[in-house]
Amino acid sequence: MNLAETRALLLYTAEKMIESEPHLTELDLKIGDGDHGLGMQRGFTAVRDLLKTETFQPKDVGELFLTSGTKMMSSMGGASGAIFGTLFRAGGKAIAGQESFNADVLAVFLVAGSKAVFERGGAKPGDKTMIDALVAAEKQAELVKALPLKEAIVSIAKAAEEGAESTRNQVAVFGRAKSLGERSLGYVDPGAVSMSLILKYMSEYLNQ
Ligand code: ADP
Ligand code: MG
Ligand code: MG
Repeated sequence: MNLAETRALLLYTAEKMIESEPHLTELDLKIGDGDHGLGMQRGFTAVRDLLKTETFQPKDVGELFLTSGTKMMSSMGGASGAIFGTLFRAGGKAIAGQESFNADVLAVFLVAGSKAVFERGGAKPGDKTMIDALVAAEKQAELVKALPLKEAIVSIAKAAEEGAESTRNQVAVFGRAKSLGERSLGYVDPGAVSMSLILKYMSEYLNQ
């Protein structure tokens, strides 16, 4: 898909993430401080506003994601502002110069993005964070990067959803849920759900 189509894909995803606020709030109330939904809503509102700004004319897909990440980082706050901002910024940098978006470009974005998130936050797979959804997505993206994006994204989103669901059986060792210890068992990590929703909405847009 070309730059304008990718911008429309991201705009749809931002609007859906804004609408996901009540669900994400509920999840963070269970094992966190309840602000994750509002944080994501703030971040994606900033992204939506950016994408609707006619004077914002990124030169390539990399800049589209990078600038979106910068907006998230400056508007969201909390752990997830830094984490999701880092994902979009580092992912965007890694695909600088790309004039179109496809499964191969998405794989590069996810690989670079997850590396940056590791470096920034220090969490590993299994620590009950958005990394569990991100790494699952990244691995699947590597496997399907030669497929058309419309097809590849279906399995990538499904892998992310399974990764998010896997956090239910994990004990949190990072972020606010850490203080709950074993009491975090049985609840999914809200950031992991956000990560899987971003990919789900991309898949939904491409297959509607
Ligand atoms: P806060 O915890 O500051 O209230 P949010 O509620 O917005 O921030 O975001 C919490 C989410 O951030 C968690 O569900 C988790 O997925 C993610 N997170 C927290 N710390 C880390 C980390 N070190 N690495 C990756 N993700 C993290
Ligand atoms: Mg929170
Ligand atoms: Mg908080």
